[in-house]
Parts: sequence; C-alpha cells; structure tokens
Amino acid sequence: MTSAINVAGGWDKLSSTLTRLARPEAAPEGVPVNMPMTRGSTVLFPTLEDMRRQGQKRFDHAYIYGAMGTPVQHELEKAIAVIEGGTDCQVVSSGLAACTTPLLAFLNAGEHCLLPDSVYNPTRRFADSVLKRFGVETTYYPPCASAEELNRLMQPNTRVLFSESPGSHTFEVQDVPMLAGVAHAHGARLIMDNTWGFGIFAPFAHGVDVSIQALTKYPSGHSDVVAGAVTVAKQEDWHLLRDTAIQLGQLAGPDDCWLTLRGLHTMGVRLAHQARAALQIAQWLKDRPEVARVLHPAFPECPGHLFWKRDFTGAGSLFGFILKDTFSQNAMEAMINGLKLFGIGASWGGYESLVLPTSKSITRNFPPAEAEGPSMRLQIGLENPDDLIADLEQGLALLKAHG
Ligand SMILES: *Cc1c(COP(=O)(O)O)cnc(C)c1O
Repeated sequence: MTSAINVAGGWDKLSSTLTRLARPEAAPEGVPVNMPMTRGSTVLFPTLEDMRRQGQKRFDHAYIYGAMGTPVQHELEKAIAVIEGGTDCQVVSSGLAACTTPLLAFLNAGEHCLLPDSVYNPTRRFADSVLKRFGVETTYYPPCASAEELNRLMQPNTRVLFSESPGSHTFEVQDVPMLAGVAHAHGARLIMDNTWGFGIFAPFAHGVDVSIQALTKYPSGHSDVVAGAVTVAKQEDWHLLRDTAIQLGQLAGPDDCWLTLRGLHTMGVRLAHQARAALQIAQWLKDRPEVARVLHPAFPECPGHLFWKRDFTGAGSLFGFILKDTFSQNAMEAMINGLKLFGIGASWGGYESLVLPTSKSITRNFPPAEAEGPSMRLQIGLENPDDLIADLEQGLALLKAHG
C-alpha cells in the first residue's frame, strides 16, 4: 500500500458514463457501437425555406455548414458538456484557442482582466499582445491571493477573473468558490482553464462561468490530436461564445473530433491508472535525497492542497518536482537527456511518459522569495510505474555525476 490518498476515485466513478457517450441508439436493423464519420463543407437542403430554417439553429448544435461544425463535432460538444456539468460547449481548433476565444467573447476594449501568475504561458502572451492591442488591460495576481487581495485588484471595468488550477508548472491549487464570489460581487465572469481537472473537478458546481479544456490532453489521450473546448452553463454566455466562435471560424475537423470521442471512452481507465502511477512515482521522488520538493496537489506541502482535497475527486498524470539547489541546471539537463522511458516534448495527457524542465521556462511576476533548485515536470503514461521509477533512478545517478 503506497498511500491512503484516493487519486483515482473520480475516474473510476466516471467510467460508465464515458463508455456510453455519443453511442447511437440500438435499432432493430442494428447499428455500429460508434457514431458514423461525417465529412462535409456543403449541406444540401430541398428548398431555400428549409435552408433558412436550419440556419436559425446555430445555437442548437445543428448541422448548417461545415465551418459551423459537423455532426461529430456536435456530439463531442454534448459529451464535453456532460462531463463538465455545463449546458453547452463549443469545440475549437486547439487548447490555446479554447483560452483565447472566451477572452475575446467576454472582454471589450477599455475593459480589464485578472490572470493568475501561474497561467499557461501562451495565454499570458495572448493577453500581453493581442488583448493589449485591442485595448484590454491585464493584471497578474498571485495564484494563492486572498479574497482581500483580489478585491483590491478588481477595478470597476474588470469583466474577467481568470483561473487555472492547479497552475501550469507550479501546481498551486486555487480556491475556486472564493474566486467566483469575488468575480460575481464585481460583475465579472470567472473563466477557468480546467484542463488538469477534466472529469475530476466540476467547474460549474464550484461557481465557474466558463470552463476551458485542451482536448489535446486527457480526452484524446494518444498524442495524435490538437483540439479544445469551451463550456458554459448560461444561455446568455452561450450566445456570446457561440457567435464569437462562428465569427472567428473556430471548429475542429471531424476526424479530430471522432478521435477525441474514441479517447473519451477509455479516459476513465487510462487516467485511473495514470493517476495512481503518478502518485506512486511522486511519493518515491519525495523520499529521494536529491529532491527538495514535489509539486503534486495530493501532497500536503503543495500550495492549496486543502482546496484539492475539498473540491477534486481525483488527481491527474502531471506533476512537478524541484531539485535541491546544490544541483545545476546543466546537471538536470544531463539527467533529462539520459532518461530512456520519458520522452522530451511539449504537451501531456497521452499514453506515454514525458519530461520537461520548468525552471527556466516560467515567466512570473511573483517568483518565490527563496532561491530554489532546477525543476522539471513529469507526465506519467501507461508504462509500468516500476520501470519508470528505475529510469528515474538511473537519471538521478546521472544528475549526481554532473553535480
Ligand atoms: C496544453 C494546454 C493548453 C493548450 O492546449 P493546446 O491544444 O496544446 O493548444 C491550455 N491550457 C493548459 C493548462 C494546457 O496544459
């Protein structure tokens, strides 16, 4: 028994729902288990009246024209809305587009938004460049800021409070119900990048207005798809989001949507395994003398651990760790280059294990007060966790050899 912490409970619970998503109804003549693939730009109608009538249904996940989504995309949207606990979902071309589309939908020139300092770096770049060019001002807040601190940062023109929990690279878990209280008291929306918590964090039950998913990660799960999703729970938000997505030409191709639906069917068992394996490996690392700190939301030393315990029904396959500050960046890079089962590459959530250095890639307005050693992020895949531990063990030997 490695631990009493249950990181897989939520995944186990979700599996029956996941296996039945987008399943065609049985018919006397028989139907395949999986929905058919529809590729198409033009949709034909018998009369102009029929075409106009269908054109009115852009908020109803109807098949109108390929650029407004295909039946496979619309089934995927319904599936994501079920898992997130929202009412409507828009599938977009990437996880990054899922971050940028709602920012464009819910902010106007002259308005202000608050982003956590721990936010996914491309979202930060988008705010600092495109949003700025279009007259939207951004302030960064420490991811663990209190309600009082946030109230001080909210301005009369603040319309979006953005959350990402746990934070990219640094894994701070945020007090989302508190953030929702602050946002709503000031007439702002709470937009959350819920990519890590997909399936194990119910955004709308915790006060979130708009939930973002990189479908590239757990849902597709095989490192062969790039897609994103934005889910809402209010009709007014849906209309604004849907119209903005149509005007930006946002969609995902039917093959990518079909592959993501296929991925969703096995996500429960994949992630239950990966969450347990990640915890086992994190616990092994925590006891190693080379390691200063493990950044895993299920560990009490992770900032916001109590919010994870209160609000999440499980954990994911992604976590970080910081080496003792006696080790150099070069020594860490020698370790990473020497790992055999961990691939070096961007993204996460697939069936394969990955590693990336984090310490030199983080942009922060509020860096830690005390100097910390080099750090890295691990994505744990479906390999045998004992093999992954053996690989890390020989990697730590390389680290020590380089000093
Ligand atoms: C990967 C990621 C994204 C972006 O997803 P892409 O499909 O790679 O564009 C957004 N947010 C978070 C938290 C991510 O990890």
